Amino acid sequence: MSSERIESYISGQWSAGSGPGVPLLNPTTEAEVGRAETGGIDLAAGLAFARREGGRALRSLTFAERAALIGQMSTALHKVREELIDTSVENGGCTRGDAKFDIDGAIGTLAAYAELGKTLGDARILADGEGIQLGRSPRFWGQHVYTPKTGVAVFVNAFNFPAWGFAEKAACALLAGMPVVCKPATATALTAYRMFKALVNAEVAPKGALSFVGGAPRDLLDHLEVQDVLAFTGSASTGQTLRAQKHLIEKSIPINVEADSLNAAVLGPDVELGSDAMSLFLREVSKDMTQKTGQKCTATRRIFVPEARVQDVIAEMSARLAEIKIGDPALTEVGMGPLATRQQLEDVRAGVKRLREDGEVVFGDADAALNPVGGTAGKGFFHPILLYRAKNSAAARWVHSHEVFGPVATICPYSGDPNEAAELVGLGRGSLVASIYSDDKSFIERAAIGIAPWTGRVYIGGAKVFDHTMGPGTVLPLSVHGGPGRAGGGEELGGMRGVMHYMQRTALQGYRPIVESISGQKG
Ligand code: NAP
Repeated sequence: MSSERIESYISGQWSAGSGPGVPLLNPTTEAEVGRAETGGIDLAAGLAFARREGGRALRSLTFAERAALIGQMSTALHKVREELIDTSVENGGCTRGDAKFDIDGAIGTLAAYAELGKTLGDARILADGEGIQLGRSPRFWGQHVYTPKTGVAVFVNAFNFPAWGFAEKAACALLAGMPVVCKPATATALTAYRMFKALVNAEVAPKGALSFVGGAPRDLLDHLEVQDVLAFTGSASTGQTLRAQKHLIEKSIPINVEADSLNAAVLGPDVELGSDAMSLFLREVSKDMTQKTGQKCTATRRIFVPEARVQDVIAEMSARLAEIKIGDPALTEVGMGPLATRQQLEDVRAGVKRLREDGEVVFGDADAALNPVGGTAGKGFFHPILLYRAKNSAAARWVHSHEVFGPVATICPYSGDPNEAAELVGLGRGSLVASIYSDDKSFIERAAIGIAPWTGRVYIGGAKVFDHTMGPGTVLPLSVHGGPGRAGGGEELGGMRGVMHYMQRTALQGYRPIVESISGQKG
């Protein structure tokens, strides 16, 4: 397999950086599959080009026209879906199922925003709420409106979703009327690069609307201006570094941070073995632990189980997890591939040691030799699946403070009281999603209301939705994605809510017919 040089698409053209480049590996074989280099590329000029050419072109389009463009992007990606899936297997260590989760997630999210944008018709700005009488008579009128920001939307993305991570941000920004610059994580940038090649080749977007930084960001963020928006997904530490950048603070540049998250699953005391709610719980928690080798920002890390059910849950979960074959993700019988990078492997190993202080391993063996199916001995960033049981759920230190970004989770016994469950969930100091599995309305209501302030999304699973849900791990375009505290305090998607991050809200005040004419409410 040859190594592909990853270029950047800046100022409307592809440029290879000068320098040796950073190697991108196949995490199964450790063979080099690509090299990324941004040295010598004028990123400041690229930002200026995007603002000038891309921004102007996009703002001249109506919402419906922008939506059509987003729909064409979805179609263009669908045409190269198989190539992108193969690339995710090769550069991301993803099984085909994992790869589809990312690629189809990207295609579907773009398609969903194309549909949403169509409903906004030929407007270019949006009215926010109803008009308001501001003076003694209705002559002096007020109306809030949203207009597209005139800068560029820069996305700095994590390694685990090279396709969807771009699409979920780009759909919102493009619909708002902002050009976008995508900087994927370098380690898995090959998928993002091939995705971008397809988009550029399809010629769906005006010049300057789409730009791509294929490698290190270098001075990219130093050139952000007041009308720009930065959207970051990645580790909490990088998020904090970016947030603290003097230049961004001085210019009040909005930064949306999607960071790490100790997502929780809460099993209600009413849930019996053999029930639909229990089956859903076991299915979703074991899927979350192993899908994308646990490298999913929404994956369940803490599993709160009533004390009386703990042994049953350990037995049932263990039986499911034991069936998952670890190995070369290109093989159909393999259910879980390697971690994406050597650094990831080292981080997970370090995290697993920390979790040992809080409890015992009840499934898996961190120290046993792994023989990955179809793998080469001694090669690849493979890690076993580990299930822990906390000694003391409330007193556990690392379980509630350290995200082990791999196929690892901890069962935390609790009394079955919904208030206690909410308090324990809150020990994670903010998450992207928390799930409740129960058919008891009273338990669900109390748990959901207690948990909601700690999380961006509460997923309620039970018998009534057994066949109707994709589980808490799937981010849906019409629901918000993000969370308070540890999760970064950001918010994306959620239909039009995500679009508003790329628009400025302004209160118009004046003579009513003029205000209403500007805001598009009257002809
Ligand atoms: P990371 O190491 O923080 O890197 C994220 C991105 O930041 C990469 O593109 C990286 O570029 C870039 N970066 C690093 N330092 C930078 C700097 N000083 N200036 C500008 N950019 C910089 O995170 P990761 O390991 O890729 O991702 C794993 C983490 O992401 C996990 O904690 C996970 O929970 C979180 N995550 C959250 C969500 C969510 O939606 N909340 C989704 C997915 C992942 P290089 O790769 O070139 O270094």
